[in-house]
Amino acid sequence: MAHKVALIPGDGIGPEITAAMRRVVDATGVEIEWNTVDAGAGVIEEYGTPLPQHVLDAVEDAKVAIKGPITTPVGTGFRSVNVALRKHFDLYSCVRPCLSQPGDGSRYEDVDLVIVRENTEDLYAGIEFDEGDPRVAEISRIVEESGRKTFRADSALSLKPISITGSQRIVEYAFEYARRCGRRKVTAVHKANIMKATDGMYLRIAREVAERYPDIEFNDKIVDATCMGLVQNPADFDVMVLPNLYGDIVSDLCAGLVGGLGMAPGANIGRDIAVFEATHGSAPDIAGKNIANPTAEILSAAMMLDHLGENVAAAAIRDAVRATLAEGAQVTGDVRRALTGSAEGAVGTQEYADAVIEHL
Ligand code: NAD
Repeated sequence: MAHKVALIPGDGIGPEITAAMRRVVDATGVEIEWNTVDAGAGVIEEYGTPLPQHVLDAVEDAKVAIKGPITTPVGTGFRSVNVALRKHFDLYSCVRPCLSQPGDGSRYEDVDLVIVRENTEDLYAGIEFDEGDPRVAEISRIVEESGRKTFRADSALSLKPISITGSQRIVEYAFEYARRCGRRKVTAVHKANIMKATDGMYLRIAREVAERYPDIEFNDKIVDATCMGLVQNPADFDVMVLPNLYGDIVSDLCAGLVGGLGMAPGANIGRDIAVFEATHGSAPDIAGKNIANPTAEILSAAMMLDHLGENVAAAAIRDAVRATLAEGAQVTGDVRRALTGSAEGAVGTQEYADAVIEHL
């Protein structure tokens, strides 16, 4: 029986890379009933919102979705559709494997780590107050009343909620993932030395959860030291579990260790719904030119196939990508540039997908 999958092409490079991904998945022979639905700025005029109800219904119905990136206006305008989707379906775990592959154009050869990012809380919760909002003054008064020096009157505020529940379930997810995937170590990343209430509690919970997994090594690391450690010695890291904002930032750093954003796949996983998507954004600077690297999206599809129980097809896609990169003759401009200093001789997004399909 065909698997139902909701496909959200997104905008920017989204339509190109999802088209490439879909062709690769279809070429594996796994039967997918794709339900394509659009979200983002392009649908606001028609539906009055960037995330229409029928898109949510399509994801709810299929339980599995794969999407391209969706542009979020900076500073003003509508809130991130990506964040809204994660919140709506409570997709609390963001899983982003970063694996070195010969020919990926990176300076590293020994990266094999997995980022588990909390996806629903933290400064990403979107609880913000503009400067001048009377509630900012009210919060300032509460701070003063608690005997602490308050902030400047012309401040804007973003709140950082981190809950016991949210911390427990993400750290548990990281340990369960480590067990299931034969990983040896989980590192909890935080800034508990400075943010004692939020990150301090997160670290305490992480330590408590770790005690229930004596078979998996556990350590913790401050986020800034983590960044340095990742650049110096990425092989020291295995599974990393991070609150939302650090997870977002460290994900891009780790993508840089394995050849760049075009290489880094991801999944947003909740209790019964999963939405797969590359780590990168809509890359407006290269959109519509058939030059984006679809590897991250194709590898996100491999994660999706694993989730659907199609492990043979998932492995075939990973092997085909690996072989195509290792051969190096048909790679996109980002990889070519990293390898040779120039994008000359690179192939386009769709031609690269053809090469991956040839290697299946
Ligand atoms: P970005 O990830 O889109 O791009 C950063 C840089 O990496 C650019 O130079 C881009 O050309 C390059 N790049 C990204 N993906 C690539 C690929 N597949 N192949 C080759 N090069 C690639 O980050 P940004 O420019 O900060 O964000 C652009 C938009 O995307 C913003 O509106 C942002 O909010 C949104 N965004 C969406 C998601 C999502 O949909 N999940 C995630 C991150 C950012």
